[in-house]
Amino acid sequence: KLLLEVKDLRAVVAESKQEILKGVNLVVYEGEVHAIMGKNGSGKSTFSKVLVGHPDYEVTSGSIVFKGENLLDMEPEERSLAGLFMSFQSPVEIPGVSNIDFLNMAYNARRRKLGLPELGPIEFYGYIAPKLDLVNMKIDFLNRNVNEGFSGGERKRNEILQLAVLGAELALLDEIDSGLDVDALRDVAKSVNGLLTPKNSVLMITHYLRLLEFIRPTYIHIMDDGKIVRTGDISIAKVLEKEGYKAISAM
Ligand code: ADP
Ligand code: MG
Ligand code: MG
Repeated sequence: KLLLEVKDLRAVVAESKQEILKGVNLVVYEGEVHAIMGKNGSGKSTFSKVLVGHPDYEVTSGSIVFKGENLLDMEPEERSLAGLFMSFQSPVEIPGVSNIDFLNMAYNARRRKLGLPELGPIEFYGYIAPKLDLVNMKIDFLNRNVNEGFSGGERKRNEILQLAVLGAELALLDEIDSGLDVDALRDVAKSVNGLLTPKNSVLMITHYLRLLEFIRPTYIHIMDDGKIVRTGDISIAKVLEKEGYKAISAM
């Protein structure tokens, strides 16, 4: 079943009107894993931020349909409640708010929207505790303040935990591999794989073949100058790793 359809999407920086996305086309079906690769500054992060409705950008033309609905008519909050999840390259610290309270609030917001009763702290604890294994986290991780003093690997695993709690249908993962050593990378990849179902899809942005060897994408897309210029399988990433982006443009 079709999950996301992006057509000729153009977007500018809201402040300067500088065009960053110059006609992006992408179709994602349920159960697929898509990877977007591309040079620094090609527009990958902008694309994922435009999908979640980041206020720094304005869509000037094109369309985004998510689960049959026009995403561009929806506020960022509504997009998230509709099942779109985004992890950020630099998740913020939220001093004074424990990780478990933060996740509980986010989860209750989702439940209210679905007309379900909220979960109190004890019920929520029961809900989240089994998910800790998935991200290889100890219980005390939940009592620490959001992102405060988290190592790079812990931040990434926490993002995956947020995803596990909220249960998005389309997860946008922007460089979840950045700054991770190979063991941490394998852990994070394992967690993402553990969340994949025939109904859920992942759109991940990465520079590295390593991640793609752990999380096997259905399709790999190359973004260049605000457009997806090539789509293929893992072999594209292998050419890229060996010969760089020049080789891809020549293909
Ligand atoms: P990538 O994630 O592929 O490295 P980005 O989407 O972050 O690329 O950025 C694409 C281009 O758009 C870059 O040249 C970047 O400087 C510019 N850009 C992105 N967001 C903004 C912004 N908020 N203000 C000004 N320029 C921006
Ligand atoms: Mg970048
Ligand atoms: Mg980026």
